[in-house]
Amino acid sequence: MSFDALALNANLVNTLASLGYESPTAIQLEAIPAILAKHDVMAGAQTGTGKTAAFALPILHHLLAASAEESKSVVKAVRALVLVPTRELAVQVQQSFVKYAKGTDIRVGIAYGGVSIEAQVDVFNAGIDVLIATPGRLLDHLRQGVLSLKQLDFLVFDEADRMLDMGFMDEIQALLKQVPSDRQTLLFSATLDAAIFSLSKTLLRDPKLIEVAKRNTAAAQVEQVVYAVDADRKTALVSHLVRSKNWHQVLIFSRTKQGVDKLVQQLEQANISTQAFHGDLSQGAREKVLQEFKQGNIQVLVATDVAARGLDIVELKYVINFELPFVAEDYIHRIGRTGRAGSAGLAITLFSQEDALLLEEVEVVLDKRLPQQWYPGFEPDFNKMEPEPRRNGKAAQKQRAKKRVLGSKKR
Ligand code: AMP
Repeated sequence: MSFDALALNANLVNTLASLGYESPTAIQLEAIPAILAKHDVMAGAQTGTGKTAAFALPILHHLLAASAEESKSVVKAVRALVLVPTRELAVQVQQSFVKYAKGTDIRVGIAYGGVSIEAQVDVFNAGIDVLIATPGRLLDHLRQGVLSLKQLDFLVFDEADRMLDMGFMDEIQALLKQVPSDRQTLLFSATLDAAIFSLSKTLLRDPKLIEVAKRNTAAAQVEQVVYAVDADRKTALVSHLVRSKNWHQVLIFSRTKQGVDKLVQQLEQANISTQAFHGDLSQGAREKVLQEFKQGNIQVLVATDVAARGLDIVELKYVINFELPFVAEDYIHRIGRTGRAGSAGLAITLFSQEDALLLEEVEVVLDKRLPQQWYPGFEPDFNKMEPEPRRNGKAAQKQRAKKRVLGSKKR
């Protein structure tokens, strides 16, 4: 099926053709008609599935139709607001809107913390139709009276699960008081769990529920490999993989900022051009590093989970989990950085004994086993096996409960 069949504005269809988008992705096929038909939508879609265009295109379509009807003298006001959890995702979503709105007079603004408020205000004063914002900075702008959301037609929650994880509930409640109740609301989330369903009840009106992949599944086109390796040989294995296979644009996840910095230092010592990407870097530094990585000037980027949220790098083929995340769902977000929009990706997890429980958690979430392999020359040394990790009481209980839920399924 082509984009023509979705009856989108001709300008948008031409832009998509010039971008080389041949056909809508699964989420786009379902969400675009529902949003065009003015339904509220609750969509379970991971990053990499084309979810941004799934809401951006129909919103732009409506805005273009509305602006054709309005007289030129009408004062421009924010018509669509996209709330996102992180600055990186804000930038990525803004770039997508700008890309899709090319050739129209739709103006797109952005609001996120960590950078000067004045530059953002200048853009608002010139008039914007679409605003992409993180909740905290948006509230600052609203308190200062530089923005009004009174004429909002569309409210989008992007990566809503992460917004809840990051504790944005209070900000969301405060923002809801400032937006009209007569609006169309769209909620996108990588995972749809009880917390998201309960949030949706306060936000959405009779929403269409759209799920393109099974809940909590990883993007199918990502090959997942787990190498069992001694913890003290992980760095050597990473250097070996990157160098012997001449991999470029490799994204490695570490759990902590300290872990990131240590690994960067070690890989640099091994003459692999590597940069860190975590919350201690200034926004300017993060953007610069990301730009360099996208341009291929940096071979390896080592990131924490929060910082890497929302990274959109076309053609990113390799993700390495240096350690598994403490929150199993983050594994899905991590590997969703590769295999985007149908291209193939490889996600490697370096597994040592201390990760045993975390791997189990990931397998429960995926409802799938991830068999471990040995990488020749890096086989684990069983003489120095670490003791079985102690089970944290609460995690173990949760684990058992989840297993009971999945009990009858073949794993
Ligand atoms: P997202 O899931 O929104 O982060 O999108 C992932 C990537 O897929 C982005 O680089 C988009 O530019 C790209 N993309 C989105 N829709 C399509 C499409 N229909 N055909 C090809 N690429 C797409």
